[in-house]
Amino acid sequence: MTISIEKHPCFNDASRHTFGRIHLPVAPKCNIQCNYCNRKFDCLNENRPGVTSKVLSPHQALHYLDKAIELSPNISVVGIAGPGDPFANPEETMETLRLVREKYPDMLLCVATNGLNVMPYIEELAQLQVSHVTLTINAVDPEIGSEIYAWVRHRKKMYRDTNAAKILLESQLAALKKLKEIGVTAKVNAIVIPGVNDKHVAEVAKTVAELGADIFNCLPYYNTPETVFENIAEPHPEMVASIQRETEKFLPQMKHCARCRADAIGIIGQENSDEIMKELQEASKMPRKPAEDRPYVAATSMEGVLINQHLGEAERFLIYALDKETERPFLVESRPAPPAGSGTMRWESVAAVLSDCRALLVNGVGESPKKVLVNNGIDVLTLDGVIEDAVIGIFSGRDMSNLIRISKMHACKTSCSGTGGGCG
Ligand code: SF4
Ligand code: SF4
Repeated sequence: MTISIEKHPCFNDASRHTFGRIHLPVAPKCNIQCNYCNRKFDCLNENRPGVTSKVLSPHQALHYLDKAIELSPNISVVGIAGPGDPFANPEETMETLRLVREKYPDMLLCVATNGLNVMPYIEELAQLQVSHVTLTINAVDPEIGSEIYAWVRHRKKMYRDTNAAKILLESQLAALKKLKEIGVTAKVNAIVIPGVNDKHVAEVAKTVAELGADIFNCLPYYNTPETVFENIAEPHPEMVASIQRETEKFLPQMKHCARCRADAIGIIGQENSDEIMKELQEASKMPRKPAEDRPYVAATSMEGVLINQHLGEAERFLIYALDKETERPFLVESRPAPPAGSGTMRWESVAAVLSDCRALLVNGVGESPKKVLVNNGIDVLTLDGVIEDAVIGIFSGRDMSNLIRISKMHACKTSCSGTGGGCG
């Protein structure tokens, strides 16, 4: 295997006009809430706001990659940068990386993350020869961090204020240290937010340089409506340039970052072609595991209209298909659920009942049944809303973040399960 790290167009200025990158949008959820982020848009930490991407399953992403390489053979890097955080969606992220590495042994692999939950996956990232990781670190002082992050959800616990910023910072610095110990090239992004961290970014650069970061990227904050920071103006280019002069005392600077979309492809700075966007669209409509023939979607519901029943309470599953001519879903049948009370066997039986379904829509599900069903190739989505809207979403690959169920922990409407994304 020959992986040439100098071919990374983001890390190596000299190769950015020759080699292209592709972002595979497989990570919709996020595990933190930045005050500049509105989840109607892609994550700001790596991507341009205002561009909502399709979300692909790992197998759909591999199919899309095959097509993209046919159209754009200069692709040297496959990256995962959202639209949420790759490690708020670790199963999807790691499976995608495994699939790509198996099929493309020479490809550079790259991930961009907020750093909160990357640590448990670093060993495997190294085994998969993921050579480049981007961490977005906006503050190394929890007091300043507490102004930037509304909350952090880590290991099923919610943190706010300085506790949130502290947990995030500790995770980020520990991850950076570990990445450097195992020889991964590490870029650190810092979003420059006037009046919040602009005077602190140099301190971030100094801290991460001491831990071995390779390159630093000062990204000007984007003003985004309906966010805590919506009244903060974007930094003047001179402010960013002056911060770059400060931070380059500690680290080489990336100055050509184009804030690409979470589904960007090709040479940095070039727009995605219509042809490639069509391929992305097509991939998102495929079964989530394209090799399998799974024509149906199952749902749990009390009255047959809304997704409003926990999996454990369901006595029947409603099975839907899509009418290819009208592109409308229709109810195929109702299937009885296996009886309750037989432990994991019950969920294996559910998997058998739904073996021709690509997804199961529920209003609630425990970790254990979810794992059994996912292992049996059934995607389990916890949603609130009208069944037909979600079924159309599954078959068309449409973004369904407006239906993703907000857990009780995040009932404040700031849940990070949407289209934004933890990023990079
Ligand atoms: S967002 Fe920046 S670092 Fe990421 S692919 Fe685009 S140019 Fe490279
Ligand atoms: S998606 Fe998550 S990490 Fe990215 S900007 Fe939004 S809240 Fe921050």
